[in-house]
Amino acid sequence: MPDTDIQPRLSALKQQRRPVVALAIGLLACFCLLVVGVQVWSVLHARDVALRDSVSDTGNMARALASHAQASIKLGDAALSELVERIGRDGLSGPAAARLRARMMTLTHDVDELHGLFVYAADGAWLVSSLPTPVQGNNFDREYFQYHLTHPGKGMHIGKPVRSRSTGVWILPLSRRLDHPDGSFAGVALATLNLGWFGRFYDSFDVGRSGTILMMLDDGTLLYRRPFRDEQIGSDVRSGPIWQLYKHSGPVGTAILTPKLDNIERLYSYRHLDGYPVLVASAQSTDEVLAEWRALAVKMSLLLGASVVLLAWGGVVMVRQIRIREQLEAELRRSGNALKRHNRSLKALADSDGLTGMPNRRLFEETLEREYDRARRNDTPFAVIMADVDHFKKYNDRYGHVAGDDCLRRVAGAVAEGARRPTDLAARYGGEEFAVVLPDTDLGGALAVAEKIRAAVGALQLAHADNPPGYVTLSLGVYSARPALDKGDDAMAWVEAADALLYDAKANGRNRVAARDGQAVSA
Ligand code: GH3
Ligand code: MG
Ligand code: MG
Repeated sequence: MPDTDIQPRLSALKQQRRPVVALAIGLLACFCLLVVGVQVWSVLHARDVALRDSVSDTGNMARALASHAQASIKLGDAALSELVERIGRDGLSGPAAARLRARMMTLTHDVDELHGLFVYAADGAWLVSSLPTPVQGNNFDREYFQYHLTHPGKGMHIGKPVRSRSTGVWILPLSRRLDHPDGSFAGVALATLNLGWFGRFYDSFDVGRSGTILMMLDDGTLLYRRPFRDEQIGSDVRSGPIWQLYKHSGPVGTAILTPKLDNIERLYSYRHLDGYPVLVASAQSTDEVLAEWRALAVKMSLLLGASVVLLAWGGVVMVRQIRIREQLEAELRRSGNALKRHNRSLKALADSDGLTGMPNRRLFEETLEREYDRARRNDTPFAVIMADVDHFKKYNDRYGHVAGDDCLRRVAGAVAEGARRPTDLAARYGGEEFAVVLPDTDLGGALAVAEKIRAAVGALQLAHADNPPGYVTLSLGVYSARPALDKGDDAMAWVEAADALLYDAKANGRNRVAARDGQAVSA
């Protein structure tokens, strides 16, 4: 490819060039950030999914617990309703009481949740019970008894959990008031639900090691809590998380809370029973819910960290390699430039004359050939001047070689001064001879230049006692012509013609110019 085509391509490429290191670092940093961002997002998303799953698990559990509790209480309530209805219809006289007792025994036997059925007189004395052996006793002091004594309503009352006087187990009392036909207080019918039976049901759920299941009255009295602790049954849990949440959010809710009791953060779901003042709740520790997620997140993060470190290491190696390459390129450019400069000075050295510093004969002949070709192409004239110092041998003889050299330097300066057009070339042809090539110059122009040179040398007034004028002079031969192909000439013909004219000038007395127009002769 020619040089002229390479330059625009090089400058176009240079314009497209970007700072590679900054680009590589920027790209790598963006990629790392993107990867880390995606990872953080997916880890957080996975956490959300795990929590959402747990919300749905605990919510379903709360629904199952609520429907179980509701069904159990309903069974107790149904048994109570039957007792009240029977007592109202048959009274509690001898055979009726026996029949009632048999029915009560059948009911407690058939219904698992029922711990016992009892009927108390208006003074609290035991009248009939489902127990196998009749028991003497008085339950006047029980909370539910006092409630019905003071509340004439016919609805079922759910009392506070108590330890059974007959069996010692924790029971939940469900009671209804018995009335005389005149509406006065006749006693209380009681159905007790075995809280232990609830406990066995609750234990069948998997809520993890730190999970919990709760059942409470909506006045804040704890009925059951898993894990079971005897001293907690019947305690007031109004300050606890579930009751507080219930007060704020209504009959159904879910929240992440940390109770002061054990300081374990849990995801709670609770539900209030339809028609009964009871709340059930289940909870799973968020630590356990998120354990699997956490392990996965740690693994993924370690993997990601390793990838980022690997990527960063690769990036550092790459950037280092790019830097080395850039340094090499710069080094190469520098040495290329140095080489070019060196070559230029070598060329200048090869083209110049050691004594005078002006172009030498080699460059003169090179220029002569080039100008000859150009003149031939353009059909223009060009001229050559050959000049020679007069009686220079004598000058050397008289003034010495060193002075001769100095004289040659001064004369060279005057010759160069005479041919000042940028396209002109004045050279030292050899010894005390000088040659000038004048492109695109006819004889008139060339003659003028030659006279100017002659005058300039004369004006130096360098003393030369053995030269008739008394100072250093120059003889010159000037030849100008257009190259004529048909004559089969060449560039050297101009030198030879000018040299012959120079000889004429010498012969005719020196310190003069002899000129000839090549065209005039050939015409
Ligand atoms: P003419 O007028 O016919 O030219 O007489 P000339 O003495 O100049 O002619 P010639 O060619 O016989 O002598 C040239 C002399 O120039 C010979 C040489 O001693 C001297 N010369 C040639 N080159 C150098 C040079 O580089 N330095 C010095 N000092 N003298 C040189
Ligand atoms: Mg000579
Ligand atoms: Mg001479």
